[in-house]
Amino acid sequence: MSDRQNSTEVPAADDFVLGLDVGGTKLAAGVVSADGRVQAFTVTPTGAGDGPEQVIARLCRLARDTVSSAGLRLADLTAVGICCCGPLDSRSGVVHDPPNLLGWGDVPLADLVAAELGVRVWVENDATAATVGEWRFGAGRGIRDLLYFTVSTGVGSGAVIDGRVFRGGRGNGGELGHTLMVADGRLCGCGARGCLEAYASGTAIAARARERIDDGGHSTLAALTDINAADVARAARAGDALAHAVWRETTDLFAAALAGFINVFEPQLIVLGGGVARTGDQFLVPVRERARVLAMRPAGEIVEVRQAQLAEKAGVVGAAAAAFDRVTTGE
Ligand SMILES: [Zn+2]
Repeated sequence: MSDRQNSTEVPAADDFVLGLDVGGTKLAAGVVSADGRVQAFTVTPTGAGDGPEQVIARLCRLARDTVSSAGLRLADLTAVGICCCGPLDSRSGVVHDPPNLLGWGDVPLADLVAAELGVRVWVENDATAATVGEWRFGAGRGIRDLLYFTVSTGVGSGAVIDGRVFRGGRGNGGELGHTLMVADGRLCGCGARGCLEAYASGTAIAARARERIDDGGHSTLAALTDINAADVARAARAGDALAHAVWRETTDLFAAALAGFINVFEPQLIVLGGGVARTGDQFLVPVRERARVLAMRPAGEIVEVRQAQLAEKAGVVGAAAAAFDRVTTGE
C-alpha cells in the first residue's frame, strides 16, 4: 500500500492492473485491463516450504516478468491486486498466518510488494476477490445483489450487496461456508462442527463416500485407493447407488443452505464456482431446483443460480477486479 490517497476516477479501458494470486501450491500473475481482458498470464510453483521472504521475492520476480511480457512497465499500472487465502486484514494488507502458507505469521504483504514494485497494492481475501471477479467480468456482470460460492477443497464465498462489495470489518466477512448446518455435526477445517463446508466441500464429499464404504456399503468406488469428489460424481452418473446417495445428500444440504442465504440476502443471482460446481448440471440443477422451492417467496422465485465463468484465471482476474473496485470506489 504505497499510496492510500486513492483517487476515485473510474478506470478507462486502457488502465491496467496486475493481478497476483498467492496460493499454497502456485503463484499466478496476469495483467488485466479495465474491461477484464487478461494478458501475459503466468504461473509458477509457490515453494511454500521456503518461507515468506523467498515466496514474496519469487512473487515480485513473477510480477516484473509478467508486466514486461505484456509489453508494459510497472509505471504503466494503475495498481496491483493480490488475492490470498485468509485470515488477513484487507485494510492494512497484512496476512495472518493462513493455513496453506505455514510459517507466515503476520506478514505485511501489501507493504512488502509495494516497496519492491513501487506501485500501490491491495490485498484481498481470495473468496472475496473471486466474487468481485465474477461480478465485474464473469457470470455476474450488471447484477446488483449476488452471492458467490467456490465449492472445491473448502467452501469459500462472498457477497455483493446493493452494488457494493461486502468485506466485513477487516476483509474476512461473507464466510457463508462456515454456517452451522448440523448441530454437533462433522468436524470442519475451521475447528467448528457441522459447518456447510464439512459436508459440501469436495474433500467432505469424498470422505463421506469413503465412510459409507468403510461401514460396509457396496460401491464401485471401493476399488479406489484415493477417492475424490470427481470420482463420486462419475460413479453417481454411472448408476452407483452409494455414490448417488452421497451426491443427493450433498445437493440437498447445499440447497438448504442456499435457501437460508436467499431468505437473508434476496439476491438476484448466485454464482457457483470450483471443482464440484464444474460437474455442471449434475450439481447445479438439483441445487437450483431445491433451493428455489425451500426459499421464501418471492425471493426463491426470482433468484437465478449460474455456473462461474472465470475458471483457471479466477484468482488473477478476481485480484485485479478487487483492485479496480478499490480504485473506483475509493474504499
Ligand atoms: Zn467451518
